[in-house]
Amino acid sequence: MKLNSYNLYRQLLLLWGVMLLSVSCGTDLGVDMIYKSAGSIRQYQVTNQSLVPYVNRFKERYLAHGGSLVASIDDIPVNFGDTNEKVGVCLIYSNDQREVLVNLDWWNGQSSRRRELLIFHELGHCALGREHQDNKVEKSNFSSSIMNSVLMSERDYRMFLAPYHFELFTRDGDVLLSAIHQELADDDPIAVSSSQ
Ligand SMILES: [Zn+2]
Repeated sequence: MKLNSYNLYRQLLLLWGVMLLSVSCGTDLGVDMIYKSAGSIRQYQVTNQSLVPYVNRFKERYLAHGGSLVASIDDIPVNFGDTNEKVGVCLIYSNDQREVLVNLDWWNGQSSRRRELLIFHELGHCALGREHQDNKVEKSNFSSSIMNSVLMSERDYRMFLAPYHFELFTRDGDVLLSAIHQELADDDPIAVSSSQ
């Protein structure tokens, strides 16, 4: 009897694990803003040519949201390199120099939108000084920010691209919140009206 309930417990646990895997399509970024000790030296001085379009897109979006520190974004080289098993990292050196390193194997398996999402997240750390923001948008299952420590699915990012950019650069989540709630209301008006 004891053995049976143990087996049932194991099976339930396994089932739960499989369900989690199938539901979650985000990528855990872990601790990816890393302060390097004194004596560590930045590995690169310029950005890899194939990554320049993503950095330019970040700058363009940054300017569109009223940013003015473009020169300091240019001071952050973005390259492929040893990310210590992580997808990407923002390294901050003791002299305040910064750089972003990206895992090439991960990169090669991603769409350009998801690549953009990673670069925006890492430059969110390195250029905007943002830390992780791990909550969900109220009454939804959407990340409240590109700065979530789990990189959201391409689908979620595409659905609310402009509101996610707005939140990243202004730190104001209201536009995202309204956009998501509007979308949920359009999907299921009865569910939303009954919850009000
Ligand atoms: Zn991060």
